[in-house]
Amino acid sequence: MKPDAESREGVADTGTVPDSRSDPTRRERRPFTVQVASLRKVAGSIRHEARQGVIGGLAAVGVVVPEASVVDAELELASYPGGIMITGTVRAPWRGECRRCGGPVAGVVAAAVRERFAPAGGSDVDEDAYLFEGDELDLEPLARDAVLLGLPLAPLCAEGCRGLCPQCGTNWNVTECACTPAGDPRWSALDALRDP
Ligand SMILES: [Zn+2]
Ligand SMILES: [Zn+2]
Repeated sequence: MKPDAESREGVADTGTVPDSRSDPTRRERRPFTVQVASLRKVAGSIRHEARQGVIGGLAAVGVVVPEASVVDAELELASYPGGIMITGTVRAPWRGECRRCGGPVAGVVAAAVRERFAPAGGSDVDEDAYLFEGDELDLEPLARDAVLLGLPLAPLCAEGCRGLCPQCGTNWNVTECACTPAGDPRWSALDALRDP
């Protein structure tokens, strides 16, 4: 048997040519792949695509999209003479640690996207565009980038989180501690006047 992509993926060799458009198991494995042949035939054509799938390794400092959680993409594909314009929203759940108290925080990224896909090897190189070959777009890199850009840089468990005491580590959201406040050095002159 020749080592083609099908046999590497463990698909049974039935002797027929696999068709990615009609095989639901393939579609499930590559949920962000979109066929755009009909869309490209007429510039200005528009199609709506809603795709959901797992994207591994989505993480930033102290924040992660939990493994096996579903990334949800609601996108509009519009063909133009140079490629396909994609607009919409990509959503994914995230978990992280509060930057002040270290407690658990969770939320949902809802990242707006507006990106171009251009055919690879085209005459005018569109440097800002994602590339595609043939009539198949892989929207996973777009979804991945959108989620990574949308993850919070420094999440808080609550707007008013009081954080931890820098001296004893007490969680000030839970209780007070007896440590002397460090005080603001700009007021020390006033303190001296008040306290002879
Ligand atoms: Zn906190
Ligand atoms: Zn303390």
